Amino acid sequence: MIRYRHRIVLRAQELSEALDGLADRLKPLIGNDEVTAIPVLGGAMFFAADLVRRLPSGLVMDFIRIQTYGDATSPQQEAKPDWVPNPENVKGKHVLLMDDILDTGRTMTAARKFLLEEMGAAKVTIAVLIDKPVRRAVPINADAFAVQFDDDQFLVGFGLDYRGRFRNLPFLAALETDIDGLPMSVDVAEESAVSEESKASEASELAQ
Ligand code: 5GP
Ligand code: MG
Repeated sequence: MIRYRHRIVLRAQELSEALDGLADRLKPLIGNDEVTAIPVLGGAMFFAADLVRRLPSGLVMDFIRIQTYGDATSPQQEAKPDWVPNPENVKGKHVLLMDDILDTGRTMTAARKFLLEEMGAAKVTIAVLIDKPVRRAVPINADAFAVQFDDDQFLVGFGLDYRGRFRNLPFLAALETDIDGLPMSVDVAEESAVSEESKASEASELAQ
């Protein structure tokens, strides 16, 4: 079993409150438009499921997938959709494009361009769970975000993964990284150190 050094950043209750605030800020941006909510698969699914249940009924849901991360902890250059929404859900519609994190901005830039230019969306509004402006590499902003972090930390939980794991954590945690930016695992002998840093019950979930 591998355990990772980590720090709890937002607990489930804090995430819930942040989503309430985000939904309140989005409602006026959506108005009475015919909206199609499109999360970026798969990290945004968890956030999107919670967010759309706070928005007015009647919106349509569809999905897009753009892979920029692979197993690495920093993004690669190219972002091309390999799963696209149904054209009738996008053409002429107001799309609410959702992702877990707006980081370098490449994923959202590519997704927005694709939806507007290739699929004919009338308008794209961007909502993200987390805005990380420090790592922005292309000029793009979210229309609304739930939380903003000014430091560069590698986050997991609430949909965010490291090597496919930890998406199902109900809280958001930052994995401690080494000098190469890679998450640091902990020897079993060091386990007590992890437990001291965070609640033991939550630390025990960050193992694979
Ligand atoms: P961007 O294209 O804006 O650089 O990256 C956005 C994508 O990178 C997000 O959809 C997310 O999957 C991934 N990403 C960015 N930062 C993090 C992070 O701190 N943790 C994890 N797990 N994924 C991240
Ligand atoms: Mg993603």
